[in-house]
Amino acid sequence: MPSGIATEIYIAIGLIVLILLIGLVGMRRRPKGTEAETAPPPAEAERRARPEVAEAPAEAPPKPSLRDRLSKSRRFLADRLADAFGRAPDEETWEDVEAALIQADVGVEAATQITEDLRSKARERNLTTADDVRALLAEELVSLFEHDADRALAFGSQKPTVWIVLGVNGTGKTTTIGKLAADLVHRGRSVSLAAADTFRAAADEQLQVWADRAGAEMVKHQPGADPGAVAYDALQHARARQADVLIVDTAGRLHTKTPLMDELGKIRRVIEKEGKVTEALLVIDATAGQNGLVQAREFAEAAGVTGVVLTKLDGTAKGGIALAIERTLGLPIKLVGVGEALEDLEPFDPKTFVDALLS
Ligand code: GDP
Repeated sequence: MPSGIATEIYIAIGLIVLILLIGLVGMRRRPKGTEAETAPPPAEAERRARPEVAEAPAEAPPKPSLRDRLSKSRRFLADRLADAFGRAPDEETWEDVEAALIQADVGVEAATQITEDLRSKARERNLTTADDVRALLAEELVSLFEHDADRALAFGSQKPTVWIVLGVNGTGKTTTIGKLAADLVHRGRSVSLAAADTFRAAADEQLQVWADRAGAEMVKHQPGADPGAVAYDALQHARARQADVLIVDTAGRLHTKTPLMDELGKIRRVIEKEGKVTEALLVIDATAGQNGLVQAREFAEAAGVTGVVLTKLDGTAKGGIALAIERTLGLPIKLVGVGEALEDLEPFDPKTFVDALLS
């Protein structure tokens, strides 16, 4: 081989080796995470593109569970049942259980029935441990709630769905309407509110605050105006803007000679000339105990109530009132209020509720 060609081959090989070496060094120095790496999947790329702070957003505090919310009732029952179940079941156990249930506002008749059933089933099944008897008590309590009740809120076939909210002043009507509106808006529905409690001073201002928080619109008239006229206007307004749901606030007390129930009936009739009321929700304050039940009965009998919203369950040790309400009024509890914030409204499910009370 002529020496000139050999030299050229050596130079060429040398160049190739040099290029390879430069390439290798370059690859080592290249910082991780640049575009040249194998392209990450889009979600990964987006995550990487964000600065460190954004990668670990300040986490919203987890929502307290129903069990936490019912801590007053739970502790109340737990203390009393701990005494009752602290020994192998005997006559005194059943008396203690009955007393605990009565004190928890379950109602005397229901408490007696539950205790009788508990006693005979515990014997039949030969239950001796506190855990077994507690589990049986939970079963008994759940069985006394209405099984087949439809606890979902009913939507109409045409827009807007109309829900009326009723109840004595102070039970939590306005707050519940705000929470309901917020939940609906959160699920992508448009909501209008009707400030048809024209009797209580500043009721419309209070409702407006909730409407703003929830992202709902509100229709109101002058104080003292005819509630039926407000409901009518609100329905027209909701229709015009194609709102999904119209929620009507109503008075819990009147300063006129017209009986409250007549006024509530009138609101309903005005709406039902052109639309349909699919829910008339009665708001009951759990902290009012058996007194609240007496007040609620009047509404339940007169106003075509379709379901109950039981508020302030977080504020009472006597959560047994839920059972008393269903049994006495024969109405399903559809929602429970467990705090004063926008998100403190939960669907009611007897088993979840009883588990939260007894666990
Ligand atoms: P209204 O007169 O029936 O409209 O009752 P409001 O909505 O004004 O509520 C009366 C009071 O009860 C207010 O202080 C509310 O914050 C409070 N409230 C309403 N619902 C709940 C609830 O579920 N839990 C607690 N702790 N307070 C509530």
